[in-house]
Amino acid sequence: MGIGKIGVVGAGTMGNGISQAFAVAGREVVMMDVGEAQVQRGIDTISTSLDRLVKKEKMSADQKSAAMAHITTATSLAALADCDLVIEAASENVNLKLKIFAELDELTKPDTILASNTSSISITRLAAGTKRPGQVIGMHFFNPVPLMALVELINGLQTSAATYTAVEKLAKSIGKAPIKVKNSPGFVVNRMLCPMINEAVFALGEGLATAAEIDEAMKLGCNHPIGPLALCDLIGLDVELAVMQVLYEGTKDPKYRPAPLLVEMLEAGYLGRKSGKGFFEYPAK
Ligand code: NAD
Repeated sequence: MGIGKIGVVGAGTMGNGISQAFAVAGREVVMMDVGEAQVQRGIDTISTSLDRLVKKEKMSADQKSAAMAHITTATSLAALADCDLVIEAASENVNLKLKIFAELDELTKPDTILASNTSSISITRLAAGTKRPGQVIGMHFFNPVPLMALVELINGLQTSAATYTAVEKLAKSIGKAPIKVKNSPGFVVNRMLCPMINEAVFALGEGLATAAEIDEAMKLGCNHPIGPLALCDLIGLDVELAVMQVLYEGTKDPKYRPAPLLVEMLEAGYLGRKSGKGFFEYPAK
């Protein structure tokens, strides 16, 4: 039983990236968000991203049109009823995700697999809120999805072997490199990456160096392709904070306490690239 039609909940940074990756690989995708404006922003982002590939001659204009034609949009979860797999990529909020999973559980086909792209929330917990816990799995993609090969596949305690195998096969079929990860706070990559970024924010807050100098230090001293603060802007300061809170709450280990400056920047509304300002500025083009 193969996976055909794919639903994506959320048309933000990750939702539109996931939709693009599947559509380019020739899969039918329904991309859903709460309103027309959010969905349109997602479609515009995909179109601009594919235009760049056409310009670089990595894709023809016809291939772009074909990929765009594979994506339909929706503003209600009901539009995902006949999907074989739904990947939830809505905002990182446990109550929001539990509500979405409960609704998807009610309205999708009995054999639909429900996946979450959550960076940090327990898959076991999301699965327990449904009547199909064996068909719930974590599919944690990396940003920007079209470029990043890794996808962490997270089995909850209840996830069936058949669900894992189907999703692993699908991920490989679109050129991704899946790794199997135990369900635990932050999984593997964020468990290491987010504390490193958080430490960079501590260093900035303590005045050790400027944001540009901290990033330059990690690029030149550790050969990182992007500095931790620019990476935080790319990920989103809200997402970084949410991961740190889950690591902290999940382990009660003070080494995971969020940097005060990170919290304060969010209070100011600085979300990173998506709001035009984070540790660096991103003027609208
Ligand atoms: P984002 O803020 O860019 O997008 C979230 C989208 O979800 C928004 O468009 C919002 O309108 C939508 N949304 C909110 N409530 C919804 C609902 N009820 N139904 C449908 N859509 C709804 O966030 P993002 O960075 O794309 O993150 C999405 C998920 O992916 C989060 O769980 C996050 O932890 C995870 N993630 C993020 C990254 C990253 O680098 N940003 C990487 C891996 C995983």
